[in-house]
Order: sequence, then structure tokens, then C-alpha cells
Amino acid sequence: MSTALDRAAGSTGAAELPPPVARRRTFAIISHPDAGKTTLTEKLLLFGGAIQLAGAVKARGDQRRAHSDWMKVERERGISVATSVMTFDYGDCTFNLLDTPGHEDFSEDTYRTLTAVDSAVMVIDAAKGIEAQTRKLFEVCRLRDVPIITFINKMDREAQDSFELLQEIEETLALEVTPASWPIGMGRQFRGCYDLLRDRLILLERSKGERPDEGEACDGLEDPKLDALLPDHAVAQLREEVEMARGLCPSFEFDRYREGTQTPVYFGSAINNFGVRELLDGIAAFAPPPRPQPAAEREVAASDKKVAGFVFKIQANMDPKHRDRIAFVRLASGHFKRGMKLKQVRTGKQLAIHNPVLFLARDRELAEEAWAGDVIGIPNHGVLHLGDTLTEGEELHFRGLPAFAPELLQKVRPIDPLKAKHLGRALEQLAQEGAARVFKPMIGADWIVGVVGGLQFDVLADRIRTEYDVPVIFEATQYYTARWVEADEPAKLKAFIDRNKANLAEDHEGFPVFMARNAWHLQDGQDGAPDVRFLATREPV
Ligand code: GDP
Repeated sequence: MSTALDRAAGSTGAAELPPPVARRRTFAIISHPDAGKTTLTEKLLLFGGAIQLAGAVKARGDQRRAHSDWMKVERERGISVATSVMTFDYGDCTFNLLDTPGHEDFSEDTYRTLTAVDSAVMVIDAAKGIEAQTRKLFEVCRLRDVPIITFINKMDREAQDSFELLQEIEETLALEVTPASWPIGMGRQFRGCYDLLRDRLILLERSKGERPDEGEACDGLEDPKLDALLPDHAVAQLREEVEMARGLCPSFEFDRYREGTQTPVYFGSAINNFGVRELLDGIAAFAPPPRPQPAAEREVAASDKKVAGFVFKIQANMDPKHRDRIAFVRLASGHFKRGMKLKQVRTGKQLAIHNPVLFLARDRELAEEAWAGDVIGIPNHGVLHLGDTLTEGEELHFRGLPAFAPELLQKVRPIDPLKAKHLGRALEQLAQEGAARVFKPMIGADWIVGVVGGLQFDVLADRIRTEYDVPVIFEATQYYTARWVEADEPAKLKAFIDRNKANLAEDHEGFPVFMARNAWHLQDGQDGAPDVRFLATREPV
């Protein structure tokens, strides 16, 4: 009898893709801080044979905890060029794991990274259930129907009741859940899991080395093997609970998972390396190979022959003395080779890509070639902007995530007034990188900086000081929110701008933005200009 895994493997939709593309799985882990993302990443890399980096990830986790919050962010930023993408092989697949910054006060960076993945793993702390950030990140995944596999971590600790956890996921996220494995006990009594998709008993052996063994194949839950391997009460409980779970939850449906409406749930303990192999097998079998990416002109299939990709992240280099940046490009199609000339659609320029970087698990190295689904890093001096599309000549504009209106706005000024110009340049670069929104009011000389999480102000102040040598102060403003404004008729927009100069600013690309002082002011502005649209998000140009 074929198992759910075999059936899914036969229908991964990969048949028409070139083999190197079909075996790629580009994904991210979404979680609330402390749920175990770093630990799980380390264990995933262990399976990929990248043991050295696994150590590095661990050290990073430890260092992070030793620092204050924003130092932690800074620290991550400093080393994340190397770890933003981790590529490793396991089984027949090549995995590209994209790191989403793990701090509580996330930025747009995190959102944008999710535009570059084909699926996600949602890690949940078994004692805490769904937490605030898991939920936010989940909503971003949902915007793009990103399929999600759930890993309930820390089963070796006192956990919430498994049924309650499943119900919580289902209710808070409005997402159908189906258990892929079922835990046997929890906390100190946690003995392992029964793999519901492959009918295997997998026992936790705390004293064993890094890799747990294959588990014991069973002929269903009634197999007497279970009675031999587990104490009576544990077997009885397992049988009863699985029967209940099967009665309460729908069975795994590959198509529903792929549409993003159902999530298979694995239970495990990352720190004990337990459940990680099953999770990886699950990603390999179910998670989509590179998905078609939406562009304004058409959908770009991963099987398309010509190279096309988009910049989803820009990272200042590790060395603050050098201004070079790495643009992270997700390839949507084609077979990229080093030295290729690609067209930057925004400017029409041809760029010869001589030194692209691939992020193999151990280290980064020159990318001689890359396929749809891969992420390459392109060092540049600010030529590449967020949202840029690169092609072999075609006029394409990928639809990334729109820019979000910032939720917090502050004024920034240099401590030394003579450095105003330097500050302007720094802000422009940071805005291009996507580290902040920067607004220049049409009247006056201030710079207004907008972010989605308050911690970003500290990080920015630190970066502007260390990377641009301009100590700055952030100050409260009267602004409550910002809205991009546009109109179908340029004359109407111009008339609006002329009438409202005192309330308008330009973003770093020169687009007009209405700066509202409060909700009433925003409403009043909108009511007074029926021909003008006020937008909380702006599509990338
Ligand atoms: P992150 O903030 O999501 O990256 O979480 P970390 O991986 O840094 O883990 C947070 C804390 O939980 C660390 O102290 C880990 O050692 C611990 N931890 C991670 N996984 C497990 C697990 O399976 N069981 C237990 N008991 N602790 C875990």
C-alpha cells in the first residue's frame, strides 16, 4: 500500500520542471522568538551535513542572548550576510532555507523574505501555543497562499494538551490542521512519536548521538510491536488518542496543503533532534518546488528557460567601512551562470554579474551557476534596489510585497548640524536597502523616518553613527501615519499637492506622501479630495 508520502511525492507538480529545479525547496521558518527556530535550523543543517555551520548557528544563538535587545539585532545583522540563506542537501532535495530575522521587533525585511520562499515551516512552542509574532508572520504567508508545515517544538517539556494545541492553531489562524505525527507522552514522559503518514514508531533516545535511528516500521497502530516497545498504558493512550485525532481532524490532503488551507503538524523536540528527520522528509515530499512568481506582465514559471529574478533584500556588508552591499536575488526562472549579463528593468541597464555569491551551508562561495528557486547574492555599490527585477532582456516587473505604510514616525537630526548632508545620503541608502521609510516634508528641512517596529529606531541610530559617522537623535513628531497619494489624472494630483504642501512629504523615490497628524486629519484629507487615492501600501515600481 502506498503511503501518504509516496502519493504526495508522485504529485509534487515537479514533473515539468528541469530536474535541478524540481528538487529545490526554498523555505523559511516562521516563529515567535524563543520557540526554537535557531535550534531547529541547526539540526536541519546537521542533516544536511553542514555540521560546522550548525555550530556557528548555535554560537550565534548564545551570543544573542548575552546582549541587550538591539545589540542582538545588530549582531544578527552583522553576521546575517553569511546566514541569510542556508543551502543544504538532504535526500534527493536541495534546500534553501531563508533566514527571517528572529527578534521580536521585526521589520519589513522579515515580510519581504517571505516573498522569496515557496513554503514555510511554522515552529510553535508546545507550552505557549500560537504567539503574537507567529501570527503576524502567518498572515503574511497567507497573503501569498504560502503552504505551511507546522512543527510543535519542546515536547520534552511540560506542554499543552495536544488536542488543545491543534484546536488553537485551527481557531486562531483559521487553518485546517491534520496531525502528521502523534506524540507519546510529554515532558519527562515524552517517549517519541507515532508517524501517522508512514506508520512508524519513532522513539526518543535521549542518550543517542546526533542522528536518531530510522524508527520501527509498524503495521498500523494495532501492531503487537507497539506493545513490545512501549509500556501498556502508553500504548493504550496512543491508540485512544490517535483514534480520537483521526475522528476529529481531516486526513492529510496534499492539495489543501499546497493551497495553504491545511497544515500537517509534526510534534518534536528540536534540541533532542527529535522529529527533525520526519519534518525534513515532509518538506521534501510535500513542499512545493519553485512556484510560479507573479509579475505585472505575466506569471513567470520556474520552468521558463530565461533567467528572471527579483531583489528581495539588501544587506550592507559586514565591514562597515566599505559601502558595498549585497543584493539578494531570488531566481524565479532559468539557469543562471556566472558572468551572465542581466538587464535591470527599472533602469534598462545591463549588469554583468561577475561575482555572485551562493550561500552554501558552510560558507559563502562564488556561484558558478544557480537555478530557479535559488538565491544569489550580488555585491554592488547601491545600483540594485529593493524590488528590482533582473532579466535576460524581457520587460518584467515582479510583484513583491507592497511597501507598508510605517506604523511609527520620528524626526531624525544630526547632533552636528553641519552633517545634515551626510545624514541625507545615509538615509537615502538605508531607505533603498529597505531598513526604513524616509520622508522629506515638502516644507521645512526635517527628515522623517518611519518604521514598523520601535526597536528599529535604535538600530538605525547605531548604523548611521557607525557606518556613516553621523551621530543622530530621533525625536517624537506630531505625525500619526503616512499614506501614499495618487490620482488617475496628473493635474488633479498636482492640484491636491499644491493645496496641501504643508501636509505632504516625498519618500526616497520622490513619491508624494500625505503625513497625517491623527485619524481625523487623515479622514479629513481624504474627504476633501475624492479624486485622490490614499494608499497604506505601495506596489513596488
Ligand atoms: P529562537 O529564538 O526561536 O531561535 O529559539 P532558540 O532556538 O534560540 O531556542 C530558545 C530556547 O529554547 C533555547 O534555550 C533552546 O535551547 C531552547 N529549546 C529549543 N528547542 C528546545 C526543545 O526541543 N526542548 C527544550 N526543552 N528546549 C528547547
